[in-house]
Amino acid sequence: MAMSQNYNFDEVSYTPRHTTFKLIAPDDVKHVVLSLYTKGDEATDKKPLATKQMKHVGKNLWSVTVRGNLIGRFYTFNIGKGETPGVFAKAVGVNGRRGAVINMKRTDPEGWSSDHILSYASTPNSTSNSTPSSTPNSCLQTPNYTALTVYEMHFRDFSIARNVNLDPKEFFVKRQSTKYPGKFLALTEPWAINYLKNLGVGAVHILPSFDYASVDETKLDKPQYNWGYDPLNYNVPEGSYSTDPYDPATRIREFKEMVAALHKAGIRVILDVVYNHTFDLDKSNFQRTWPNAYYRFTADGKPSNGSGCGNETASDHAVMRQFMLQSVKYWAQEYHIDGFRFDLMGVHDIETMNEIRRELTAVNPNIFIYGEGWSAGQCAYPTEQLAVKANISRLPGIAAFCDDLRDALRGPFSDDHQGAFLAGLAGSEESLKAGITGMTSHPQVDYTKVNYSKEPWATEPTQCINYVSCHDDLCLVDRLKASVPGITTDELIRLDELAQTVVFTSQGVPFMLSGEEMLRDKKGVHNSFNSPDSINELNWNNPLRYPQVLSYYKNLIALRNHHPAFRLGKTQLVQKHLEFLPTADCLVAYRLKDHAGGDAWNDIIVIFNANKAARQVTVPQGTYTVVCKDGQIDEGGLETVSGTQVTVQPQSALILHN
Ligand code: CA
Repeated sequence: MAMSQNYNFDEVSYTPRHTTFKLIAPDDVKHVVLSLYTKGDEATDKKPLATKQMKHVGKNLWSVTVRGNLIGRFYTFNIGKGETPGVFAKAVGVNGRRGAVINMKRTDPEGWSSDHILSYASTPNSTSNSTPSSTPNSCLQTPNYTALTVYEMHFRDFSIARNVNLDPKEFFVKRQSTKYPGKFLALTEPWAINYLKNLGVGAVHILPSFDYASVDETKLDKPQYNWGYDPLNYNVPEGSYSTDPYDPATRIREFKEMVAALHKAGIRVILDVVYNHTFDLDKSNFQRTWPNAYYRFTADGKPSNGSGCGNETASDHAVMRQFMLQSVKYWAQEYHIDGFRFDLMGVHDIETMNEIRRELTAVNPNIFIYGEGWSAGQCAYPTEQLAVKANISRLPGIAAFCDDLRDALRGPFSDDHQGAFLAGLAGSEESLKAGITGMTSHPQVDYTKVNYSKEPWATEPTQCINYVSCHDDLCLVDRLKASVPGITTDELIRLDELAQTVVFTSQGVPFMLSGEEMLRDKKGVHNSFNSPDSINELNWNNPLRYPQVLSYYKNLIALRNHHPAFRLGKTQLVQKHLEFLPTADCLVAYRLKDHAGGDAWNDIIVIFNANKAARQVTVPQGTYTVVCKDGQIDEGGLETVSGTQVTVQPQSALILHN
């Protein structure tokens, strides 16, 4: 592949007098045909208004200009492989089979010009009552991404059950129903914004929200569910999350309204991007415009399957690399996206990811980039050149999910019934310690004893996403039930809170699955990607059933937000200020000393006890204020203790300071 060629994916240039269509396609095809339609729905409008032959106007470039005002028209391209809206449609009809000519400017909600990607200049929540400021592009210093708290959610999970279920009790937020169950607009409603703001999360990471294939947008009256890891059109919001998937502008405007509402509340929006594979190979927009150019193939010519979904894109090919670069830049500039989570980032090559980091830094350095540092199968590309976890040190400013800490807490991904630290099993303490440092180099961590990584893979703690659960695998409640035999509700609550206390006091970027704060469960379903609402929906009665859990999460997140000691952001500072204390099995303890990170507290001691009994731990002599104990957090202080011995209650965290 020619690496030097520049591809410009602007497929539609509209003016009221004429519209120019361009398509990147092979030089040697006989005909490239543009078809124009009155409707976006191929089922009810089969006959084109007009067809035009496109001209070969340059290397791999075809073009045609159509006179007249085409606003509201739909279009497809065809190189002889079947109709397609192209690879970079910015607006589409229902189900994304046809592109749409629209005026993008008219999709901007009121006040959009003053909406911006949020800055890290201030810590989350400290600006919650003021409008967040934009950051000048000249700011080149890497922001301290560990100031983020990421809340991973699916629109439908979050809002579908937010019905008018009037309970006289009010907790956390007034009970209000949603007008927009399962839609982008649900996140503009006061109940949702207030809930997220009160919880204190700094970012929502939304599951795939570009146009995906598996939900039929013409049948939204029947319940359908999918996570959305089946990309169709990468640069258009998904139609089923809009109030009118037939009108191309609606989904765009409503997506922007959602971003603006969250930004106003000081909450960032992170997009889950799935460039590693497409829903389908033969019928994909890539394959229909330039066969084989966007994908990797094995030596014997078969589609490589590093995604585990039947195909694997080729970020190392110039055309795919530039497609990804232009796509993320488009989302950042058009939709003000604050961060990107790369699905199976380990399928992409290091050079592409580094170029994405450079380009997005040029747009705005506050844009956070992270991904899954693995693939789901063997890629047709050398592993040493792929953006896998082990290579994160060669990807500055990019983070990866820390399965080391996750599995040290809950147990291995390979066996839902096998527990680890949370189950009271010894042997994961060193992996926990590594995770606490954000998988960075630390003199007191022996990486030979760490579960998956025999060396610190993160250069800086900003490169490590700490978590105990996400949309994949069992959610935390289900995993605890599966791996801790005979677990009681009391234990479930204790262990859930203990797990998240490890995550939210660790030096990496903390990340949680939406609903863990209300003890969500998925009735034991391990892979709920297309399960019904009854499995995936958040049960909004849970906060009323377990108010102490929600309250604990809120206080835990606030503790992190208020204390820079938990988010030092630099390996050097972690080495200087974080000191592990000697402990026994199923106990991990550390001290953040000397006003770490400029913290108001001098020394902070954090102890995790996964044993079923209370334990004594030796701490440096002193008088301490207890701020977290036995399922309660109060930054103002729960009690005072003195001496060199403290008691940690069973299956809980203890946090003290002096
Ligand atoms: Ca769709």
